Amino acid sequence: MAKVNCKLVSWDEVVGWCRELALKVKASGWRPDLVVAIARGGYVPARLLCDFLDIHDLVSVQVLHWGRAAEITAKAHIKHPYTLELSGKRVLLVDDICDTGDSIIVAKEFIMNRWKPAEIRVATMQWISPVAKIKPDYYVDEVKEWIWYQYPWTRLEDTVNFIEKIITETKEKEGKCEWCKDDIINAFKEYYGIDVGEHYYVLAIEKLIEEGKLERVNEDRYRVR
Ligand code: AMP
Repeated sequence: MAKVNCKLVSWDEVVGWCRELALKVKASGWRPDLVVAIARGGYVPARLLCDFLDIHDLVSVQVLHWGRAAEITAKAHIKHPYTLELSGKRVLLVDDICDTGDSIIVAKEFIMNRWKPAEIRVATMQWISPVAKIKPDYYVDEVKEWIWYQYPWTRLEDTVNFIEKIITETKEKEGKCEWCKDDIINAFKEYYGIDVGEHYYVLAIEKLIEEGKLERVNEDRYRVR
């Protein structure tokens, strides 16, 4: 199985990046009237930017795009296309990362057409410049080689999806149907090159049992279904 280039992101790093992002917005001399978070990845950065920039108006648009285990599954689209009156307002549109840029493009176009603000600027912590179709107005890191940022707000979701990918692909390729917990953890660390910690592995295995994808054979053995 191909190994995935991952970076485990800490909460402290997120706070540091958002502080830096806020400084860049301030230094540009432009002051937004409100922040729009792209759900769900933009929620935490948007909230931190509100704090660092002292902005009290925060709303959100949800764009669906990425699916399970670091794979794109759908064409980016707005989930709840509601209407807001924003004429004359300056909007700071915030997401965690600009990867393909599709989510930002779709959100920006939707807000421009439906909410009709005076101006929209985009801020993200990371910008994957070789693949992104759009460059954020403000960003902290230009990422030149594609990598999956394992942000703290998707830690369990990613762990579940990554483990599911490992066990299903290994079953298909090698016929392996039974795993003990340490095997799963070691395979996870090998494929993704990160360690999310014991609690997340345990919760992820429980979730896969709940979803009927794993079956508990005994205390420490699981069968792939
Ligand atoms: P995109 O539309 O491709 O720019 O990305 C949509 C959303 O998917 C981002 O806002 C993230 O929440 C998530 N995402 C996409 N690519 C990555 C990545 N390389 N690392 C972590 N999250 C990602």
